[in-house]
Amino acid sequence: MGELTYRVERLAREASRTMDVAREGLAADLAVDGLHAWGRLYDSVASGLDFEMVWPDGEKRERVPMAQRRALLRHADRRVREAAFAGGNEAWKSVRDVLASALNAISGTRLTLYQHRGVGHFLDVALDDGAISAASLEAMFAAIEGEAELPRSFLRRKASLLGRESIAWYDLEGPLLRDGGPPMVCGEIEAASPSWETAVEMVRGAFGAAYPALQSFFDRAIERRWVDHTPRPGKQPGAWCTSSPVIQQSRVFMTYAASMSDVSTLAHEIGHGFHAHTMRHVRPLLRGYPMTLAESASTFAELILNESLLRDERLGDGQRAALLGAALGDASIFLLDITTRFRFERALYERRASGELSADELDALMVQTQREVFGDALDPEGVDPLFWASKLHFFITSVSFYNFPYAFGYLLSRGMRAMHAREGEAFLPRYERFLQRSGSDWAHRVAKQTLGVDLEQPDFWRDAIRSLAGPLEQLEALIAPAA
Ligand SMILES: [Zn+2]
Repeated sequence: MGELTYRVERLAREASRTMDVAREGLAADLAVDGLHAWGRLYDSVASGLDFEMVWPDGEKRERVPMAQRRALLRHADRRVREAAFAGGNEAWKSVRDVLASALNAISGTRLTLYQHRGVGHFLDVALDDGAISAASLEAMFAAIEGEAELPRSFLRRKASLLGRESIAWYDLEGPLLRDGGPPMVCGEIEAASPSWETAVEMVRGAFGAAYPALQSFFDRAIERRWVDHTPRPGKQPGAWCTSSPVIQQSRVFMTYAASMSDVSTLAHEIGHGFHAHTMRHVRPLLRGYPMTLAESASTFAELILNESLLRDERLGDGQRAALLGAALGDASIFLLDITTRFRFERALYERRASGELSADELDALMVQTQREVFGDALDPEGVDPLFWASKLHFFITSVSFYNFPYAFGYLLSRGMRAMHAREGEAFLPRYERFLQRSGSDWAHRVAKQTLGVDLEQPDFWRDAIRSLAGPLEQLEALIAPAA
């Protein structure tokens, strides 16, 4: 079988985890009004939800659709974030019994199906989907647990800029502030508003210095007008890249609105295109890569851009601090928030096996998990008991554990970028082999065969996390005078 061994074994494993045809048919029919109906119920309850937003001046009150809450939780004014958090959670609280029923039904149905299908552990299906071994997952979380002080110390620093010892949950996505001054993240960086031509130059320069092959792919994409970047009425928000193995070309859809995050998006989507480009000669059956590896090339390209921007002498200290703050903010989400989601979901399945959990129990489990993972970086009173209800990911019925692949992909890219920085160009052929093989085998085997690293041991993951120590020191040096 050779190169198809993994695919064939995976198909065989999936086949061994099915009931007989008649029972699978019945399960599929019942899922329409059972499992998936609970997911649809969540969607309809959540999408119809709005909340009372009491603006900080206390005079203006208005009802705000829940879809706008996320933007308010990123607001530079802490009082706005606090009000959106409190108002939003009042609304989630009013529907939490219904949502607890949905969550119990979704997890309970899955456990029953796993039992009848002979699935040994409730994590097995998610691990198979992510093409990662249980040992890889354990090694990654062991490293995150061991190195948790790094993201925690960033959050404590963020809190100190707010004049506090620890953050509240609603500070997680808020911008970094300089001593009560103007927001560094949104304000100064957004104010840079580079033109499209400047953005192309920034990305070209970054890729060219670190990775010439990526630059030539980028140049071709720009020259051949593969990137639809112009704003126009009726254009959908969002960004994505699609690639055709037949014509061996990619197309990027995005809207360039002249912000620094749009420049990052450009680098990110080109990374996806480059991933497809490296796979152009791979046989079709081995081209489908799992979610854990899907963001490898995109995040790698973004890291190259980010590091290049930090070296750009045209950047002021404020802009540099903003970039570092945003990168470390992302890191704290990937390392601590995602770990919280994973541990909560794992505990939910463990406990659900012996009965339903009440909304109170779900709240308590969420609070306990947040406190364990964030430690003293999170204000004991600043927790979010209803995070299980507001986070859609727990209610997706087509896939379970829609959380750990984020942390896995993020750290894998960071680890590879750290190897690239250490080894220089000599690393790149191995990186490209890794991308080529990303749909061909278990992630740890691909990593071992191409990069020569062992994902089933914590070392690689530890190094990837420790690569954040430099950025944290740089940030400290930039904001120290203001403290
Ligand atoms: Zn992406």
